[in-house]
This record gives sequence, structure tokens and C-alpha cells, in this order.
Amino acid sequence: MARRKKIYEGKAKILYEGPEPGTIVQYFKDDATAFNAEKKAVIEGKGVLNNRLSEFFMTGLGQIGVPNHFIKRLNMREQLVRSVEIIPLEIIVRNYAAGTMSKRLGIEEGTQLPRPIVEYCYKDDSLGDPLVTEEHIAAFGWASQQDMDDILSLALRVNDFLSGVMLAVGIRLVDFKIEVGRIFDGDFQRLIVADEISPDSCRLWDIETGQKLDKDVFRRDLGDLKDAYTEVARRLGVMPKTTAPITKPTLIN
Ligand code: 5GP
Repeated sequence: MARRKKIYEGKAKILYEGPEPGTIVQYFKDDATAFNAEKKAVIEGKGVLNNRLSEFFMTGLGQIGVPNHFIKRLNMREQLVRSVEIIPLEIIVRNYAAGTMSKRLGIEEGTQLPRPIVEYCYKDDSLGDPLVTEEHIAAFGWASQQDMDDILSLALRVNDFLSGVMLAVGIRLVDFKIEVGRIFDGDFQRLIVADEISPDSCRLWDIETGQKLDKDVFRRDLGDLKDAYTEVARRLGVMPKTTAPITKPTLIN
């Protein structure tokens, strides 16, 4: 059997060449990293959960007409996606203050923002993904004005969708990050949501208790990350049958 070609290995995913031109196989690893990979761990089953959850969110977005890269799930850890030219920006949408915004502006975590606020970071691990303005994006040619209009519209539509889906299961969508990629259709090009949407890239708080159900559990040592992600999957009804490795039955004499 021919070995497939690895295109890229990131902190949480590996990308392989897909079976058809223009496709990619996205493999979800169990690795968890934080603070630009200064903190690392392997959380068994995280990749399985994120594969399912990203499938769930991307499929739902597709159903309401938000274009994205998802084609189909292949197995427990892999999904087939469209190959895109990634725009080198992390697009962050915030509904409540938290994380770096709270630190930067001195706003208490959990404070509701007057309206969703969209921020852009330049995707570069060696620089720690610095916050940039539309001036930087235009001046350095990372995206055109038309791209920025499309990115803003995609980000806000994802926010509306995700906020609603989460609210329905008692979870507050505090903030999230998406990535956007360019695809080419003949002479035309358009932008679609790419990468992943999972508790690795969102802040999700239980509405009643405020309990954190996202990667902050790992970043801030708040408990078992897998339990938190499993709870999100359970509430959304996307719980895989098993995330544990298949073990041989124990023989009882
Ligand atoms: P903050 O800027 O407060 O650290 O993050 C804002 C939101 O974007 C959080 O939901 C966080 O998980 C997400 N986010 C920011 N940077 C990254 C990143 O490099 N990777 C992932 N997976 N999520 C990120």
C-alpha cells in the first residue's frame, strides 16, 4: 500500500494529501499545547472528540449556507476537507471579555461586551500570533479589502450560529478563533471557513455554574480536559460510542 504524503504537522493536527486533487486528510492528534507550546500533554481521546465536534459545527454551518472546508468524516480521527490557501490570520470573535482581551484592557473576565468584537492576529508561532489591525493586514497584503469584508461576514455568521447552538445546551460562547482559506473555482476565488472549530479554539462556559468546558481547563490546570470536551459532545448529542482504545476483554476464570 502506498504511503500517503504528509503536507504539514501542527500542534494538534496533521494534514495529509487527499485522494483527489484539491482535497486534504485532516488528522486530529491527542496532543494539547498552550502558551505557544511551552505547556504540552497528551490527552487520550481529545483528537477523537475534536474530529467529531468540528464535523458537527462545520456540517451545521454548511446547512445554513456558511461555506467551509468540510467534506466528510473518514474515521475516528480523520476527516476529508477541501484544500485551501490559508489566510495568515487568526480571526477571533469575542462576546464576553476573557483571556488576552481581559489582560490587555483590564476588563474582568466574563464581562459582557456591548457587541461582538472581532480581532485579528497574525498567524506566526515564532512571534506568538501578535494582534494586528486592518492597517497591517492591508499594508502587508495579507488580505484585500474585499477579503476583509468577507472575513468579517463569515466570522459574525459563525458567531451567530455557534452562540445559538451552545445556548440551546446551556453553554455560553465566550469567544472563539477561526481560520479562513481561499479556494479557486476557475477564474473566481472565494473565502471559506477552514482549520477546525472545537473546544480547543473556543471558550465555552456552563451558563448556570460558569464551569469552563474548553482548553482553558488545560491552560489553567482546572481539571480533566477530556471530561470537559466529553461533556460538550454529550450535550450536543455528538458523543462517539467510545473514545477509549479498544482493549482485549479480560478473561475471568
Ligand atoms: P485569547 O486571545 O484570549 O488567548 O484567545 C481568544 C480565543 O481564541 C480563545 O477561544 C482561544 O481558544 C482562541 N485562540 C486564540 N489563539 C489560538 C490558537 O493559536 N489556537 C487555538 N486553537 N485557539 C486560539
